[in-house]
Amino acid sequence: MNKPKPYEISELPYTMRGRRQLEAGQSFCFDCHPGLSCFTRCCADVNIFLTPTDVLRLSRRLKVTTTEFLDSYTLVPITKELHLPTLMLRMNDEPEKRCPFVQESGCSVYQDRPWACRMFPLAMALPPARAGVEPKPMYFLFEEDYCEGKSQQRSWTIEQWKANQGVSAWEDLDAGYREIVSNPWFIGGRQLDPKRINMFHTAFHDLDVFREFIFSSSFLRRFELDADLVDQLQTNDEALLRFAPRWLRFALFGEPTMQLRNCTIE
Ligand code: SF4
Ligand code: SF4
Repeated sequence: MNKPKPYEISELPYTMRGRRQLEAGQSFCFDCHPGLSCFTRCCADVNIFLTPTDVLRLSRRLKVTTTEFLDSYTLVPITKELHLPTLMLRMNDEPEKRCPFVQESGCSVYQDRPWACRMFPLAMALPPARAGVEPKPMYFLFEEDYCEGKSQQRSWTIEQWKANQGVSAWEDLDAGYREIVSNPWFIGGRQLDPKRINMFHTAFHDLDVFREFIFSSSFLRRFELDADLVDQLQTNDEALLRFAPRWLRFALFGEPTMQLRNCTIE
């Protein structure tokens, strides 16, 4: 079989362009602690993309609804290269544009800090879908001048760093999201209509509204769902987030992931 051709720079997200790419097994030096003079310098004027798990964890930590979190703490950048809405953490309005969660002592939401903050100084990109090619994550290294972490002695592979930062729980819960984003349906530049883009945004980012949609509309009369699953969807946020891609594969791409009931809806 022919080796797939490498991705062009223009196919990668703009934040990755010009960064050093790391292959599996390659190591990098990094360490970060409050004793460094750059401590929290990286928590200002920075683009932090939020995954569905980030929105869920942060909104629950802050004890606000997902809708309130989205309204208060996020931006949806509009770029031509994105075929689906992507969320970014909104920095404060002051000139330094500091993260709303940074304090002198460090990150005030550290246990629930976003995936991108856990990954730093690594960044990951999922290349656009191509026919017959399984999209494999590509890793890049941020080596900002101000960051003293890159001059420290500790050495890590990608996997060691991810394990140290507790990334796997995020990757597990966001797996269905990443599958949708790189679904082969988008090959050739196909675009979803605004109604379906809104479905994507609600099911992945605004979980409280997604739950209301399931339980306050005709959804449960239209689709066959196991009773245990229905109970879980009502009470368990992670179960709801894991269900979102199943619903979206049906609603966005027409995949047979949902079973319609054999009855007439009034
Ligand atoms: S070492 Fe880098 S990541 Fe750590 S606080 Fe300093 S700038 Fe931020
Ligand atoms: S969420 Fe925490 S780690 Fe991430 S930028 Fe804000 S303060 Fe820094």
